[in-house]
Amino acid sequence: MASSKGPLVGAIDQGTSSSRFMIFPANSQEVISITQMEIKQMFPREGWCEEDPVEILESVQKCISDAADKCNELNIDLSQIKAIGITNQRETTIVWDKFTGKPLYNAVVWLDTRTSTTVDKLVDKAPTKKADYLQKKCGLPISTYFSAVKLRWLIDNCEEVRKAIAEDRCMFGTVDCWLIWNLTGGPNGGRHYTDVSNASRTMLMNIATQEWDPELCEFLGVPQSVLPEIKSSAEIYGYMAEGPMKGIPVSGCLGDQQAALVGQCCLQKGLAKNTYGTGCFLLYNTGTELIFSEHGLLTTVAYKMGADQPTYYALEGSVAIAGAVIRWLRDNLGIIKDAADSEDLAREVVDSGDVYFVPAFSGLFAPYWRQDARGVIVGLTQYTNKCHLARAAIEAVCFQTRELLEAMNNDSGIPLKTLRVDGGMTANKLMLQIQSNLLGIPVVRAPMPETTALGAAAAAGAAKGVDVWNLEAMKEAPGEEYLPSIPIADSNLLYGRWKLAVQRSMNWVEK
Ligand code: ADP
Repeated sequence: MASSKGPLVGAIDQGTSSSRFMIFPANSQEVISITQMEIKQMFPREGWCEEDPVEILESVQKCISDAADKCNELNIDLSQIKAIGITNQRETTIVWDKFTGKPLYNAVVWLDTRTSTTVDKLVDKAPTKKADYLQKKCGLPISTYFSAVKLRWLIDNCEEVRKAIAEDRCMFGTVDCWLIWNLTGGPNGGRHYTDVSNASRTMLMNIATQEWDPELCEFLGVPQSVLPEIKSSAEIYGYMAEGPMKGIPVSGCLGDQQAALVGQCCLQKGLAKNTYGTGCFLLYNTGTELIFSEHGLLTTVAYKMGADQPTYYALEGSVAIAGAVIRWLRDNLGIIKDAADSEDLAREVVDSGDVYFVPAFSGLFAPYWRQDARGVIVGLTQYTNKCHLARAAIEAVCFQTRELLEAMNNDSGIPLKTLRVDGGMTANKLMLQIQSNLLGIPVVRAPMPETTALGAAAAAGAAKGVDVWNLEAMKEAPGEEYLPSIPIADSNLLYGRWKLAVQRSMNWVEK
């Protein structure tokens, strides 16, 4: 007997550390099925971070086929799934051959810093010699972070990419684009599309018109022939070409942080959320108004829910290393076995013993945008042990968020009263309490952790022609609240010392 859940929507959540596939009943936050696979990350040189595009694709396909098996077990007829949405790690750059479908290089992951010399050259080429030269056009500073800079590096350093461009068989895309193209047919009619939220992270899109900008392409030396078509975040891009879900429309696409904004129901101007995954990303919905930051934040597209719908924008504070510092404690220092141990370890001490850990492994993103910064741990004494280190790592994530929030409050002029949070690292309750202490405002954790997938499902279900999800009716469910438990004067003192440590991370060696 088929289940009576009504129309269902699937969501592919392709993150930096894993791929997932989730199924939701339309207009619901109930997760019916979740399947997941971890993704390998490669660090071939200092500052480099790559993933295998084929592994990314196959992990998604495996999650989908495992989900189909689960549906069978649950007596859910796959015909109940009306649409599939995609949400993805952003900026990660893939180039492939449009005839064979084979990648021309590994995926260059968003936090990879190999492009620092490319960035220096681009800044030098800017008449102002400043990294913010393109900000008014694309909303972003010239930084190692964004995909066009990675593409520029691939063109400069990879003969195979240059050759494929010359022979007009090179396709460029971020992970959303790679997945849409492959899932809708690949070399056999796959759609070379990206959505506007992902396109706004390339540095090639004009943020006001949401079209590829010839001047930006020219400045970055990127041929327009390799670029996908920019679509809205909610429309039918094509249909699943193969596998157990063949024929289901692929109809939603949002960068992971924008998807979390939607999943957290921040669908109006003035609402904000912070997601703690590999990195940490604070997004503030500025409505249909474009606001350019004066405090190191990015201007980005939040979403456009249909080809004929308005574009919503967000101010974003991006921190490269959040959960990744916990992974580093596990993989590089071996002081914890899994991420959750970090909380137990940190709880063994009452504070960090005045140790400050600035995990600037990929330089510092917002609000500093200093690619030359490097990680530092300061304040070590004979007394310091691994518990202090774990605690300092957790605190680092919270201090970085405070920096983002201050920038956000300064840009918007309206201090945020509560912070809605989500992401894998919010499983750490100590982190949430420290976060509230350091911000001096309540921190509310989303009642369901899969807000990113939920946002993608909502976009896919709301697409014209699918019409099973009502975005306007989306309401935030009450979450778990953490209130400040120390006087703000105390947290200001700690924050002041953190700032000193940040200075060390930027100036530890003369340039
Ligand atoms: P992404 O979407 O970037 O792949 P996730 O939202 O899945 O990230 O979160 C995974 C990250 O969260 C990992 O970097 C991991 O180290 C961190 N993490 C997961 N659980 C905990 C925990 N209990 N305490 C601290 N960090 C955690």
